[in-house]
Amino acid sequence: MWRAQAWKATALSLFPEMFPGPLGGSLAGKALKDGVWSLEAVDIRRFAKDRHGTVDDAPFGGGAGMVLKPDVLSMAIEAVAVPGVPKLLMSPRGAPFDQRRARALAEGPGVLLVCGRFEGVDERVIEAQALEEVSVGDFVLSGGEIAAMAVMDGCVRLLPGVMGAAESASEESFEDGLLEYPHYTRPATWVGPDGAERRVPEVLVSGHHGRVAEWRRGQREEITRRRRPELWERHRAAKLNEDK
Ligand code: SAH
Repeated sequence: MWRAQAWKATALSLFPEMFPGPLGGSLAGKALKDGVWSLEAVDIRRFAKDRHGTVDDAPFGGGAGMVLKPDVLSMAIEAVAVPGVPKLLMSPRGAPFDQRRARALAEGPGVLLVCGRFEGVDERVIEAQALEEVSVGDFVLSGGEIAAMAVMDGCVRLLPGVMGAAESASEESFEDGLLEYPHYTRPATWVGPDGAERRVPEVLVSGHHGRVAEWRRGQREEITRRRRPELWERHRAAKLNEDK
């Protein structure tokens, strides 16, 4: 697909030199060089108001750590925000980032990602700038940069032309609410470090596409049911709705 303008990710960070980091290599890195997407990492400190470059202060009410100042962060957001581009704040209490959100973002013009540090950011900026809080999992990172890179990577690989085979995205984990089936490659028989001989499932070498598809479907359902009961329930509820 031809686009008038490359998909653009903008990161606001106290450590802009961390970007593109791992996104400069492999699939995302090639797409970046090819101009399929672009990345701008902007230093929040540029918007500090004093000559010391102060960006944080102690929390009202006391407690440990420092909080990113609302005035400085808001100025930074205003300087880089573009109407129509979603403004996300990386945050452990945000909505879990998922494949659906990645797909929606990839279909848009790009994304602005605000990376927190220290204890986080002043609540009033989140409100005033209508930031959408997004989490990459139920654990705490030391800063939003790695979370922002995870979000970028999840989006970029979905951009037209980035992944080799067009179909390779549609059968993946989460695309229809199920986890992926197991993969196998040559050799067909492999002796592992435990001395046991392991053969690939017979159906995969049968050459029977219908049976292969059926087996994979069954594996996806079984794995999802066992590992992620909540995903399985959601998938089943969605299916029931479809059939109605
Ligand atoms: N005091 C906060 C944690 C701050 S961690 C709390 O208890 O919730 C510092 C910064 O790292 C956050 O502002 C956020 O931008 C980023 N961060 C940490 N964990 C994250 C996660 N799971 N997902 C997205 N961003 C995260």
